[in-house]
Amino acid sequence: MTATEGDTENPRVAASDRTGVRSPDILATDGLTKKFGGITAINNVDFSVEEGELRCLIGPNGAGKSTLFKLLTGQHTPTSGHVYYDGEDITDLEPHERIDRGMSMKFQAPSVFESLSVRENMRTAAQRVIDGNLDPYVDEKLNEFELADSADMTASDLSHGQTQILEIAMALSLDPKMLLLDEPVAGMSVEESEEVAEMLNELHEETDKTFIVIEHDIDFVDMISDQVTVLSQGEIFRQGTIEEIRNDAEVREIYLGGE
Ligand code: ADP
Ligand code: MG
Repeated sequence: MTATEGDTENPRVAASDRTGVRSPDILATDGLTKKFGGITAINNVDFSVEEGELRCLIGPNGAGKSTLFKLLTGQHTPTSGHVYYDGEDITDLEPHERIDRGMSMKFQAPSVFESLSVRENMRTAAQRVIDGNLDPYVDEKLNEFELADSADMTASDLSHGQTQILEIAMALSLDPKMLLLDEPVAGMSVEESEEVAEMLNELHEETDKTFIVIEHDIDFVDMISDQVTVLSQGEIFRQGTIEEIRNDAEVREIYLGGE
């Protein structure tokens, strides 16, 4: 490291200058590594996403996608390397501090409150961003995500797909600058997946939010993504458009080999 103590400069600025990229990266990692005992789940990864992008992260099971995700959100502490967000080194920030800065996330494992109603679940998210009367905001969000009809249902009575949609709605209720989704459509019906794809596409077009979506299902990726990063064995294997990735023989091979 050549940077001095307290230096707020970060490599993303230099990287943008080098490549002539116009939009600055909102997120970047530098030499990010995570080891679990003898397993290197993420190996020296330099990953970056521009502001306003909808980036998909794909790769076979065990590639390290969820581990990278948890390093970005602060659920895991890296063995080495750094995470930069919005121009600052956030490597040492707690997950809630990252949320306060505008990062919102939906993990692979469901995390709704099963004994609460849909409305009550939405309230728990809304109270993070609204002072005072939550009702108007919660009603607005229930309508926006087409959850008004199931508002009084207990979350445990929802279908798997509806639960995922509730979770995405809760994450979006925080009005984040960046939304990270780990396998948002796993276990969903085709119709539900299409609904989520449509929702993400609309948000991507109409807002300047940044999305990072981890998905195993390349057909879903096809519906939403332009740029795709392929992770394999803890490393970035390819990056390109969905067409480039789909037509890449080596990518197909790691997918087949990983199943
Ligand atoms: P993916 O999400 O791409 O399927 P993961 O990030 O979950 O992959 O896992 C990557 C590798 O790290 C796997 O070999 C997995 O077994 C290992 N791993 C993930 N989390 C842990 C953990 N908490 N403890 C030990 N090993 C882990
Ligand atoms: Mg995973």
